[in-house]
Amino acid sequence: MKICELCEEQAKKSRNGKPHGGLATMDAPRFFKGKNPQGFEEQDYQCLTCQAKFTHSTDKNDIPWTLWRG
Ligand SMILES: [Zn+2]
Repeated sequence: MKICELCEEQAKKSRNGKPHGGLATMDAPRFFKGKNPQGFEEQDYQCLTCQAKFTHSTDKNDIPWTLWRG
């Protein structure tokens, strides 16, 4: 599956990186209780240009932007 340039860049972004303009949120964010009291959050996104799907996680033990290749 070919993904657009913005998504290529998105996969390299840090935890604090914002989703690019073509990414739309899918479903509601998911909250987890992690080891730290604040827990962490996951949010799914899909690109309107190339249909790539990402999960953004605020868990510091996880990859910030996970790209799901079709
Ligand atoms: Zn894309």
